[in-house]
Amino acid sequence: MFDAIRERLDSIFKGLRGKGRLTGQDVDVAMREIRRGLLEADVDYKVVRSLVDSIKARAVGREVLESITPANQITAIVYEELSALMGTEPVPLKISPKPPTVYLMVGLQGGGKTTSAVKIARKLSPAHKPLVVACDLRRPAAVEQLRILAEQSKIGFYGPEKGEKDVLAVVRGAVDYAASRLHDLIILDTAGRLHADEELMDELAAMKNLLPPAEILLVVDAMTGQEAVKVASSFHEKLSLTGVVLSKLDGDARGGAALAIRQVTGVPVKLAGVGEGTDALEVFDSKRMAQRIMGMGDVMGLAEKIKELSEGGAAEKIAENLKKKKFTLEDLLLQFEQIEKMGPLEKVLEMMPGFGRMKGAAGDLDPKRLGRSRAIIQSMTLEERREPAIIKGSRRRRIAAGSGTTVQMVNQLLAQYEQMRKLWKQFGKGGKGLRLPKGLFGGGGFKF
Ligand code: GDP
Repeated sequence: MFDAIRERLDSIFKGLRGKGRLTGQDVDVAMREIRRGLLEADVDYKVVRSLVDSIKARAVGREVLESITPANQITAIVYEELSALMGTEPVPLKISPKPPTVYLMVGLQGGGKTTSAVKIARKLSPAHKPLVVACDLRRPAAVEQLRILAEQSKIGFYGPEKGEKDVLAVVRGAVDYAASRLHDLIILDTAGRLHADEELMDELAAMKNLLPPAEILLVVDAMTGQEAVKVASSFHEKLSLTGVVLSKLDGDARGGAALAIRQVTGVPVKLAGVGEGTDALEVFDSKRMAQRIMGMGDVMGLAEKIKELSEGGAAEKIAENLKKKKFTLEDLLLQFEQIEKMGPLEKVLEMMPGFGRMKGAAGDLDPKRLGRSRAIIQSMTLEERREPAIIKGSRRRRIAAGSGTTVQMVNQLLAQYEQMRKLWKQFGKGGKGLRLPKGLFGGGGFKF
């Protein structure tokens, strides 16, 4: 995600590495690169200018020039400014004190509105009993799509009668239906258009007046870059949006939208769509996003994902150990298994510390190698997995023989484990803010 910016920042920080002190010239070079990286990532130039100005103002001053580790300082400043630009804290969805809570989903056709409506419904179940309502009277296919997605996800659905012409009648019908079946959350999936025209806006405004929503959520496709920012501005002007769902962040979105929407409209990005499946929705977290942009991995995101996907408490164990700052070979083995379960290896790896910089090294991640690494750990005793330090010469030979590998491969795995353990340790203190690992700017990451 946001590879363009990330690569740029990575290369800048590599250049800065090893310098005891930063000169004004160093800062200028870094700022030029950051500016270019942001522009290339489709960020509005005015946004870029103010961002770069604030980074520079902090960098050139006392904070960086007097610092012993200038690269770390600059990283921290860029990180802070990036996350501040996207909004410092996640903004949760509002729930009305008096049910039903109503969400109005708006956006252009193809942006991901229908999918996001069901994703949100799933996310808020079973704490709530959501009803998704199809309000696109022009496109029967859109109604059908919502019905099918809702059915697959076991979410309540309400749609227009055949030939219905009045969208407000659908809304009224949905309210009665929700009341009769005790739905406390009504999610209206509104009509999609190719462009935001007057007629659409009038229709949405009428819906808003009839049934005042707790949230008016605009769904925009992150891949559309600056266009997403324009769309957000025009919808916001007419409807006073309360939040944005940025969809398709799993694709090769360039990131401009996430960086600029909040800045330009003042509307917070609340959620991020990260896949076609109706479970692929995340709370938009600017801190985490800034970390990802900068290639520092996303340990928290990974831990969450593992937790969601695994059965039998394996994930809790990893999360627990993470908190205790302990990462054993057993955890590594669990991770290999989870990675295999979670599919697209690269996507998962992107969230892990150290892997961000390994882009292009995907050749190293072939399943054969992963299988071999697993076999090596599986050939160890429990004690060895928990206390890898005891694995000396003779044990290494035994493990190699047991796993059908070589001592060299075992050594390699252990060295890589050690590297990863250090990274986990630095990131394991979830929620305590940024900790900059010393090895952040060097090292080759972890290879299977
Ligand atoms: P709508 O016209 O705004 O209702 O958009 P849809 O919900 O029908 O989505 C349009 C297409 O984008 C569909 O093929 C969805 O599966 C896909 N889509 C929606 N959200 C995401 C997402 O977060 N990631 C990816 N990869 N695809 C998405």
